[in-house]
Amino acid sequence: MEYKDIIYKSPVKHGLINHEKTYKDFQWEDVKKYFEHFTDEGVNIAHEAIDRHATNSYKNKIALLWEGEGNIKKQYTFLNVKAQSDKLANALKNLGVEKGDRVFLFLPRIPELYISIIAIAKIGAIAGPMFSAFGPEAVKDRLLNSEAKVLITTPELNQRVNEIKEDLPMLKHILLVGAKDNLKKNEISYESEINKASESFKIKWVDPEDYLYILYTSGTTGKPKGVTHVHNDMISHYITTKWALDLREDDIYWCTADPGWVTGTVYGTWGPWLNGISQVVYNGRFDAEQWYSIIKKYKVTVWYTAPTALRMLMKAGNEIIKKYDLSSLRYICSVGEPLNPEVIKWGLKVYNLPIHDNWWQTETGSIMISNYPSLPIKPGSMGKPFPGICAKIINTKGKELSPGKHGLLALKRGWPSMLREIWKDKKKYDEYFCVSGWYTTGDTAYMDDDGYFWFVGRADDVINTAGHRVGPFEVESALVEHKAVAEAGVIGIPDTERGEIIKAFIVLNYGHKPSPELKKEIQKFIKKRLAAHAYPREIEFTKDVPKTRSGKIMRRLLKARELGLPTGDISTLEEG
Ligand code: ATP
Ligand code: MG
Repeated sequence: MEYKDIIYKSPVKHGLINHEKTYKDFQWEDVKKYFEHFTDEGVNIAHEAIDRHATNSYKNKIALLWEGEGNIKKQYTFLNVKAQSDKLANALKNLGVEKGDRVFLFLPRIPELYISIIAIAKIGAIAGPMFSAFGPEAVKDRLLNSEAKVLITTPELNQRVNEIKEDLPMLKHILLVGAKDNLKKNEISYESEINKASESFKIKWVDPEDYLYILYTSGTTGKPKGVTHVHNDMISHYITTKWALDLREDDIYWCTADPGWVTGTVYGTWGPWLNGISQVVYNGRFDAEQWYSIIKKYKVTVWYTAPTALRMLMKAGNEIIKKYDLSSLRYICSVGEPLNPEVIKWGLKVYNLPIHDNWWQTETGSIMISNYPSLPIKPGSMGKPFPGICAKIINTKGKELSPGKHGLLALKRGWPSMLREIWKDKKKYDEYFCVSGWYTTGDTAYMDDDGYFWFVGRADDVINTAGHRVGPFEVESALVEHKAVAEAGVIGIPDTERGEIIKAFIVLNYGHKPSPELKKEIQKFIKKRLAAHAYPREIEFTKDVPKTRSGKIMRRLLKARELGLPTGDISTLEEG
């Protein structure tokens, strides 16, 4: 489904002014000049993101505007973040943490989480951020697989760790943020270690290829993989933040993602700080009014969020928007799932701004395909490849397919933030590179005549019905155009006659009730909107569709439940 209504833009004066020209001339090597210490002595991303700002004119600039539930607020300048992370780095060193050791983070989005990410990098150790909503098994899997030496958590979350601690012989210390007393064996108070630690820390210069973080993928298609990234990623972090998110010196930026998801680590920590940007972190649950009040209160100018959040905001209605002055907003981006054209249309109406979709993965380490400030938007398209990224649609033999043809989305290997390892799983890593010269993404897509990329589906999700290949996204996007439909998850289920038939799980908008008539009406709507073969023969109304903690519809779980098959790893399932 391709929308004809292209959103044209007026000329821009900042950032990526001319995508076509920059794409032709761009060299990754040229980005290094923006860093202060990309030298033979070694590099450190924490120096570029925090320390150098703390010694230049940005030192008293706000790095972090933090708000927790219940209206608690804190502010940190770049100098404050440097001082705190230096102390923590010393504390970790005192505990025996060395370069290459894994330090895992099981924390809510509190300031200590961000300070820890910086401090760990400063010693050349490897950070492993995890969602604070994970249950004991999810935590155990990740700590076991990574052989983490230290865990930083809170006393509340530590109760879940207590259930599994016996099974983790490699875990030497647990640092507890906000512990009162009653510390057990191996448990240490974060605050008392920080208080003891010296303020002066000499950063560890590392090789650009030394490891920086391990993040487990979202688990949308199967068991999460331990994707491992290096300090060299800073090249991609810096320039993609500048050009795809369009961040500029005076911006107040809000990335709604948790660092347990790669978006929160790369674009909620490193990217903005490498650019010396003030960022907002809200540590609270999703709530439409609360979110709008954050934008209003902090005068957020650039907002990076996800389709699932935008669909929830759409569901919350247009009336509440009128209560909040959102006029500070100038640029909105989205990632994580296909962005339904209907959501872009709605955004234009209520925020008076287009939403810029971009595509990337935990494995790619930074934005690969994006809509830019200067590029007309074709709603439903992920945009065009970032300068320095060669993206193509290929078949399984590596042959490039012509525009309009569906195939594998692949990237020429070798950009700065490409994954370096699937932690301790060489076989899994090699699978990404099974087509010679290419990194294969596992997504199906096509490119149009103008070079825009369009997402079709996860390779495993594409439905084959009566000889037609149908991507669940196009059906879901058409469904949410119906006034009664708030959200939809679409799968193929086996059918003797047609191979597969399309089944849709539908969450209704407020004020609409399930009925056989509504089912028929929706089916008719899709037949007209898409094609006769693409309409869902089966519809089930449901209260919600299962999602990962990063907000992605878990179609494999819908399918497993539907067919009575084992549900597999559901450690990342968001519980309703
Ligand atoms: P797993 O690999 O464990 O199944 P995951 O692929 O969901 O989980 P992430 O790395 O968080 O883990 O997500 C990357 C995937 O998200 C992409 O491969 C793609 O399928 C989807 N995605 C991200 N951005 C977009 C987008 N703008 N449009 C469509 N799909 C997107
Ligand atoms: Mg994936």
